[in-house]
Amino acid sequence: MDDYHKEPSHHGLSDLLGEKMEEETARRICKTCHRSGLPSEADECSSCDNMRALYDIRKELAEWHAEKYGDERLDRFEFDEEVFDRWPYLKENHVDGMWYLDHSIKRGLDRILSSRMNHYQEGKGVPYWKRSTTKVWKNATSRRRGEVVSRKSPLVSACCFDVGTRMKGNDGWTYLVKLRKDGTNFWSKKK
Ligand SMILES: [Zn+2]
Repeated sequence: MDDYHKEPSHHGLSDLLGEKMEEETARRICKTCHRSGLPSEADECSSCDNMRALYDIRKELAEWHAEKYGDERLDRFEFDEEVFDRWPYLKENHVDGMWYLDHSIKRGLDRILSSRMNHYQEGKGVPYWKRSTTKVWKNATSRRRGEVVSRKSPLVSACCFDVGTRMKGNDGWTYLVKLRKDGTNFWSKKK
């Protein structure tokens, strides 16, 4: 058998399907978490869609709670039938109280950020087994030559955001995602 016939391409499959299919799946990326492999009619994956719904409900619920219960602690609020009537989505998703709602949103946010980090590193050619070395959430303080210094830029990695994204830093100033000469993202203080 000659070299050409050892290749699977001799079936002609890669010409017919292979490259075209790859191109199409690569294009289908969730607009929020940047994960690939979306169904063709969606621009956001179901996990992000779910997270967005919970986030919107949380905003409405917090306002409604403040109006109805005033200073009572929102974080200890257990949902009752009135809440489930107003926001049936909570009941459908078995979210039974504020603590669990906040926990779900936090977990969803962590998933989005680590998925974005993975997508960023994939784009930079970092092999998958090395990708967990860059932390999504940074420490607010660190030790430098025995002294405690606090981080000035935002506590989340710039790698999770597009160049040009603005965010408030740990020091209260506005920071902007910029590109280093080596092609990596970093937070730059806005002047
Ligand atoms: Zn997504």
